[in-house]
Amino acid sequence: ESSPKKSPLPKNSTGKSVGIITSGGDSSGMNAAVRAIVRVALTKGITPYAIYEGYQGMVDGGDKIKALSWEDVGDWLAIGGTEIGTARCQEFRTVEGRLTAVRNLVKSGIDALIICGGDGSLTGADFLRAEWTEFVDRLVKQKRLTEEEAAPYRSQLTIVGLVGSIDNDMAQTDLTIGAMTALQRICEALDSIKSTAMSHQRAFVVEVMGRHCGWLGLMAAIACGADWLFLPELPPPIGDEFIASGDWETEMCDILSKERKLGNRKTIVIVCEGAIDRNLKPIKPEYVKDVLTKRLNFDTRVTCLGHVQRGGVPCAYDRYLATVQGAEAVNAVIETTPTTPSPMIGISNNKVIRVPLKNAVAQTKEVAKAIARKDFKRAMELRDPEFNSSYNAYIESTILADGPGTRKVEESKRLRVGIMHVGAPAGGMNAATRTFVRLCLNRGHTPLGIHNGFSGLIADQVQPIQWQDVNGWVSMGGSELGINRDQPSPTPNPLNAKPQFGNYIDTGLIAFHMQKNNIQALMIIGGFEAYTSLITLTKARELYPGLCIPMILLPATVSNNVPGTDFSLGCDTALNCIVDACDTIKQSASSNRKRVFVVEVQGGNCGYLSVMGALASGASSCYIPEEGITLDTLQKDINHLVKRYAYEESANIPSYGRLILRNETAGNKTYTTDVISTILKEEGKGLFDSRSAVLGHLQQGGIPSPLDRIRATRLTVNCVDWLQEMAFKSIDEHKKSSNLSDIRTPTVFTKGAETATVIGICGADIKITPILDLLAETNLNKRKGTNEWWLGLKDLTKTLAKYEYETEEE
Ligand code: ATP
Repeated sequence: ESSPKKSPLPKNSTGKSVGIITSGGDSSGMNAAVRAIVRVALTKGITPYAIYEGYQGMVDGGDKIKALSWEDVGDWLAIGGTEIGTARCQEFRTVEGRLTAVRNLVKSGIDALIICGGDGSLTGADFLRAEWTEFVDRLVKQKRLTEEEAAPYRSQLTIVGLVGSIDNDMAQTDLTIGAMTALQRICEALDSIKSTAMSHQRAFVVEVMGRHCGWLGLMAAIACGADWLFLPELPPPIGDEFIASGDWETEMCDILSKERKLGNRKTIVIVCEGAIDRNLKPIKPEYVKDVLTKRLNFDTRVTCLGHVQRGGVPCAYDRYLATVQGAEAVNAVIETTPTTPSPMIGISNNKVIRVPLKNAVAQTKEVAKAIARKDFKRAMELRDPEFNSSYNAYIESTILADGPGTRKVEESKRLRVGIMHVGAPAGGMNAATRTFVRLCLNRGHTPLGIHNGFSGLIADQVQPIQWQDVNGWVSMGGSELGINRDQPSPTPNPLNAKPQFGNYIDTGLIAFHMQKNNIQALMIIGGFEAYTSLITLTKARELYPGLCIPMILLPATVSNNVPGTDFSLGCDTALNCIVDACDTIKQSASSNRKRVFVVEVQGGNCGYLSVMGALASGASSCYIPEEGITLDTLQKDINHLVKRYAYEESANIPSYGRLILRNETAGNKTYTTDVISTILKEEGKGLFDSRSAVLGHLQQGGIPSPLDRIRATRLTVNCVDWLQEMAFKSIDEHKKSSNLSDIRTPTVFTKGAETATVIGICGADIKITPILDLLAETNLNKRKGTNEWWLGLKDLTKTLAKYEYETEEE
């Protein structure tokens, strides 16, 4: 048996080594995870080993187990698939195979493993952990290991799981590494298919991946406004009137022909790979096509997206997720003791979590079992609650009126609900508006579109929106309602002051028009101007009854500077634009080998885009207004760059282009993007050169990212539910106090602070917070919140750029 190559110890070595495996199906972001693991491990004195070709490499040993250096993972962040290979390995399922694997790990000095793969891969790893001590003994008895070789490895093997899977099928985590990129590929394809379908009035049946999990299918259906959907967890028919007969074909045809009659020119049906009917019989795209052709006479085509979905270049979110989870996996390796159950790194909304791997895998396996015994209710329950509410949102925004899943409210509670966009356009605004309109209609309310913000309101640009008006809005960028930065004046005379952007409008006039249109609840979508507008409206409720209605703000701005949420709509689209641009710039910088690009990004006084953009594009550093720029900061960065380029030259390592992201206001008017670039050029002294690039309005994005579209849908459902609940509460209270039993128009009158709110993703939760409570965490002058949860990620970016780690040679 050959022995694997050992690596020289890092300067700060703790003597620990970690093996890294990618296993099962490849997914985009696996490389980003390996890069983060390698670099964080090296920084913490742990030697990282790549185990090539999944478990096969562990069984084969030899040169399949190799130490990875800092430079080995240089440009991996932007590469799809897995550079260390993956395989399905039958041998590892046998005792002999795993015994050989244990020998190879001990011979390499590996006592911890980080596995990035699906439930099968994580199960395999946990088996290995359980058998480890016994197997080491056995290997000594078999004389395949000496006592001395075995001695340091007799205590337990540490296992940490990362979930890499495009299906997003793992329980106890919201998202798996690669799922968001796969969704992006699907949405790109569906957006393209939609335009040809519209042109020819065709129907397309599109098959997407997902054997036991319909996440990709469901999210693609939501993000692209598909007209019908077949999931593995919830077979059709879904309507009560069809369930007894099982006649899903008629149900589908009824729904699709009704949509066409409403004016929809295209029909898109998504079929998940594992879609089944209620008798577990697979539903195949060709059969769906036959039904549509024969029964509805639709000109129908089938498109199977296949392996296109596996990825290619990872999207910004997958780079972020893989990087923070990879870093957390190394922490978990350090902190796990022989008695801790093997952890799996997950994410819950915006919080990286550790959960016992065994429980997550067991719960995941339950879904397939529930489907097999036709317990579809249980299968849906086993998916996270978000899956269920997303499904309901999909149904409610896809089928008009009395179809399944709709929730018409009693006539005396039907409301006139306003919606407006305020500020600058951001990806997801239209998707949110479409969901809002359709949910309102299905519940019997009247959705009123207020065009062109507050100035549109006072110019009588208020109109009911119909179902078909919002067709196609889900994937549109910009603001279909019209948007500007005008806002209600906080002082009685709007001419006395001028806001930083837009104009002030008399608040009384706004209240008058709200009342005139009998708007009984209001949803505002927008950025910081929308936020300050809502503060003004809330404070003015004492004076104006027209404002005494439930009001909610859904934050939407590329800058992500609105208090009350970790993410605003549009910031993911912007981040993807930044990452795409940086990839291109980096390539040009790399061709030249020794060029540092200073890239200017938006964000106003908020450094979010700069920090996240730097993390997701693998920049060396970033400049943010929260910290400012000083000569000292510049000097440190110059020292770093000089050191890196000098080292690469002396060690004969190929250099690559580097990036520094600068937020547009960081460094004020002194250290502008051009000034910094000029200084770098001068100080590079021939070792490196520098150029600058300003991304500007490109960052507002053309087509919103799928994540922004699904966040929009998800948050809007919560907004509509909340507006309705608050309005009903007020109606009930009014009825009680006025003692009238026959009120025809529901009266909504509420001015409690709790009925003017901001919705947001806050850590692990979705929260609706009274806006006045958020004042304590608002910097009104700087137009931003004080909860800068992303600030710490700047350190991670620097760690990954080798700010702290030094090798022997250096
Ligand atoms: P995907 O979600 O892409 O299918 P996965 O990790 O679930 O990923 P599997 O094919 O189930 O993919 O597992 C990958 C490898 O993990 C297998 O080829 C095998 O080597 C190992 N493995 C899976 N299950 C076990 C098990 N029960 N015991 C030992 N090894 C296993």
